[in-house]
Amino acid sequence: MGDASVLTGSPAPSGPAGTHATGPTSDVLPMVVGPTSLAPEVLGCLASQPPPLDDQGYMADVAAGLARLRDLVQAPSAASFIVPGTGTSGLESLAISLLEPGVPVLVASTGMWGDRWRDICIRNGIPAVSPAAGPGQPPDPDLMERLVEHHGCQAVLITHTDSSSGVRTDPAPLAAMAVRHGALSLVDGIAAAGSEVISQADWRVDAYLTGAPKALGAPAGVIGVTLSPRATETLLTRSWTPHGYSLDLRPWLPVMAATERGEFGYFQTPASALTLAFAEALRLALAEGRHARVERHVRLREALHAGLAGLGFRFLVQDGAVRSNGITVCWLPDTAEPAPFLRAVVRAGVQVQAGTHPAAASRTFRIGHHGNVSADDIDRTLAALRAAKAEVAVR
Ligand SMILES: *Cc1c(COP(=O)(O)O)cnc(C)c1O
Repeated sequence: MGDASVLTGSPAPSGPAGTHATGPTSDVLPMVVGPTSLAPEVLGCLASQPPPLDDQGYMADVAAGLARLRDLVQAPSAASFIVPGTGTSGLESLAISLLEPGVPVLVASTGMWGDRWRDICIRNGIPAVSPAAGPGQPPDPDLMERLVEHHGCQAVLITHTDSSSGVRTDPAPLAAMAVRHGALSLVDGIAAAGSEVISQADWRVDAYLTGAPKALGAPAGVIGVTLSPRATETLLTRSWTPHGYSLDLRPWLPVMAATERGEFGYFQTPASALTLAFAEALRLALAEGRHARVERHVRLREALHAGLAGLGFRFLVQDGAVRSNGITVCWLPDTAEPAPFLRAVVRAGVQVQAGTHPAAASRTFRIGHHGNVSADDIDRTLAALRAAKAEVAVR
C-alpha cells in the first residue's frame, strides 16, 4: 500500500481474468471477499495528479463511468451516480434519501449485511421488519409478502448476495411483490456486481447499490447507485427532510446529470482518483462481457465447490441454486478451531477468512473467489485447504 514499486511492479497478468500475483506484501494468495486485487489498468488510475474538477477530459471519463454503470446493471433509463463512500455509507445513503422516517420497511435479511441495513434504518427513525432467515437460507417470498401487506411497508430491502452467508437472493420476485404493494425495492449489490447476472430494469428494482472492492476489482472508497425513474421521482418529490446531509443523494442528482452533459456541478469534492479507477474497472468488466464475466465466475465456483466437496467440506448454503458465484462459506472441519485453521491455510500459501454470519461465525470460514481470479487460483486454494485440513486432523 502506498509503495511506488507496486504501481510500476509486476507485468500485466495474462488476459482480463488476471491473477493475484501483483500482491504488494507477500506471496500468500488472498482469496478474500474484499478488498480484491486490482488489474494493472485500474492501479494505473491511482498514480496521477488530481485533475481540476471542471476539466473536460475528467468529466468525460466520469460520464463514461456513469453510462457503464447503467450498462452493467441493465438499467438504461436509470439515474446513475458514482459518489464517495464505503458500502456501508451507501446503505445509509439509500435509506436516508429514499425512505420516509416513521414508515416501516421490510428487510429480507440473509446475514450480517441485511442485519446492518436494518440497524441503519432503525437508527434513522425508519421502523424495520426483519425476519431472520436460517443461516444459509434465502428469504421466503410468501412470508415477505404477508409482512409487507400486514405492516404497510414503504420498501423492500434486499441483499443480492450476502458475503457472511454466501446466499444469493433472486431480487426479481421480491421486487415484483414490492410493485404489487406500491413499495420501492432497494438492492444491496455490493458483493454481487461483477459476478452475478443483474437486470435492474426488467426486475423493476428501484435502487441498485454497486460496490467497488469486491467482484469489480476497484479500490474501496466510491460506490455506484442506479435509480429507477420511480425512485428518482421519490427523491425529487419526497415530503420529508432526511436526517443526514452529506449522504443525501438528492444534491448529487443535478451534479451527475451536469457531468453527463459535459458541464460542471458541485455538491462535495468527488474522490477523483477512485472515481476514475472505478470507471476503469467497469470498462474492463464490460470489455470481458457481462455474460462472459458471470460465466467465468460460475465455472470457477463450480470447480471450487466440486473440489471442496471432494475434500469433505460442508457448505453453509445447502441449496446449490442459491449459492453466490463469488463467495463461499464452509463449516470448519470438525476438529478445527478457527484461528489455527486459518493460520494453517496461510502456511500453505493462501489466505481465506473467518466467518462473519451472526449465527455461525465461530464455526465457519469464507472464501472470496470473485474479481480478478483465475482457475489456477482455485487450484491453489483447494491444495492449501487440503493441506490445512490434514494438518488440523492430526492434532
Ligand atoms: C462488503 C459489503 C458491504 C459493506 O461494504 P463496506 O465498504 O465494508 O462498508 C455491504 N454489503 C455487502 C453485501 C458487502 O459484501
